[in-house]
Amino acid sequence: MLDPNWETVIGLEVHLQLATSSKIFSGSSTSFGGTPNSQTCSVDLAMPGALPVFNELALRYAVMFGLGIGAQINKTSIFDRKNYFYPDLPKGYQISQFHHPVVGRGTFELFFDDQDIYKIGITRAHLEEDAGKSVHGHFDGKSGIDLNRAGTPLLEIVTDPDFRSSEQVIYYLKALHLLVTYLGISDGNMAEGSMRCDVNISLRKKGDCNLGTRTEIKNINSFRFVERAISFEVNRQIDILEDGGKVIQETRLYDSELDETRPMRSKEIANDYRYFPEPDLLPIQISDDYISKIRDSMPELPLAKYRRFIETYDITKDDAEILLASKEIADYYEEVVATCADSKLSSNWVQTEMLAKLNKSNLCVSQSPISARQLGLLLSKIVDKTISGKIAKQVFAEAWSAEEDPLELIEKKELKQVDDFDKIHTIVQEVINKNTDQVKQYLAANDQKRKKLLGFFVGQVMQLSNGRANPKVVNQILNQKLSE
Ligand code: ADP
Ligand code: MG
Repeated sequence: MLDPNWETVIGLEVHLQLATSSKIFSGSSTSFGGTPNSQTCSVDLAMPGALPVFNELALRYAVMFGLGIGAQINKTSIFDRKNYFYPDLPKGYQISQFHHPVVGRGTFELFFDDQDIYKIGITRAHLEEDAGKSVHGHFDGKSGIDLNRAGTPLLEIVTDPDFRSSEQVIYYLKALHLLVTYLGISDGNMAEGSMRCDVNISLRKKGDCNLGTRTEIKNINSFRFVERAISFEVNRQIDILEDGGKVIQETRLYDSELDETRPMRSKEIANDYRYFPEPDLLPIQISDDYISKIRDSMPELPLAKYRRFIETYDITKDDAEILLASKEIADYYEEVVATCADSKLSSNWVQTEMLAKLNKSNLCVSQSPISARQLGLLLSKIVDKTISGKIAKQVFAEAWSAEEDPLELIEKKELKQVDDFDKIHTIVQEVINKNTDQVKQYLAANDQKRKKLLGFFVGQVMQLSNGRANPKVVNQILNQKLSE
């Protein structure tokens, strides 16, 4: 149980894989899942004399991220060598940025929260290359090295210690995921390692201004594990502090199978990375013109879209949140609205019919058998009263499973709403003739009872017309007939 006397303090370092098709310092492919070492060249393999060539797209993406959070963009930034030994790092150093990152201070605004806007300080975001991977269990008594991932461009995004709970951390990670996918700078796929997260955690007494000693939990790759790792680590630190002990500053590893964190290395034996400027790469210099051209080409960002949706479409915050869950859903919704011109009806339908069906069949929006335009046209038939909402739902379900065009289905099955006065009149007469008892009851009843009985008659008429009779006309004729 979380002790109310303690406050949790968390800062995050997220490694985001940038969506370039080639690596940050070589022309090798960055695609996921290739045969080990098939996507490497002399630069990734650290052949003597091979020289890195900087991929400008990685810079563009980093600048887009910086502009997306209103951060300072540094016009000069410098690559450094971060020296350490590890089998998956053949050069013996990682090219990163230390004192002069591309992106400086910024603010991340969260809106997936009850408290409207919640602000997280961004300390910096810098470019670096990913390392390779050790592969265990394939060769008897030996480990393999796969360098396909070596040299993949990463943006490391560091926050201030501004989080106070794991919920806030998850909100941030989700919002970050949304931002980078809207920007198109990363696929944000956590399962494939495109977004990995180091979590720094400390505790302090409520009201204390100083930060406590932190531990860092490395490389967590799912929202669920982030939550579990934080929960375990907070309880572990509370136990230590309540016993009068001290938390040791160290790097820990989260073991998802045992659901615990355990030490990897402590600060006393921490690596000394001996950073120094990378002599094989020039400092990156960017002009105001370069930055403003990127700014002009930026797409609308999630927060701006959120505000616009609420204002122009007259929908609730909860609706907007669901419709903005991905850029594809938001685009789909906007096309439906543009086609049928009823934003609330569109919002309801996209949420309850579309998304529910997609979830059930495990599809994403782009795989929907009913396009946004088709749904919009279907809804416009409700708006102009050609069909009722109920019939529209049947059409939608049928069109979905048969992969047919909803409008063609309406024509084919003659599902159009019947407005014709004479036709409905005939049906009403039939219902009245068949239910003489109910008619007697109706005539003898008080207002309240009459209402109930009217519902019965309407139901009968709708049934006889296969749900196609226009309810307004039905009511009108029924009222008239029953008062005769
Ligand atoms: P390092 O370079 O050793 O990883 P930094 O000072 O760059 O250390 O901090 C890394 C991360 O740790 C940042 O996200 C920062 O907000 C967070 N952090 C720093 N001090 C604390 C603390 N006492 N408690 C929680 N998080 C912290
Ligand atoms: Mg760190």
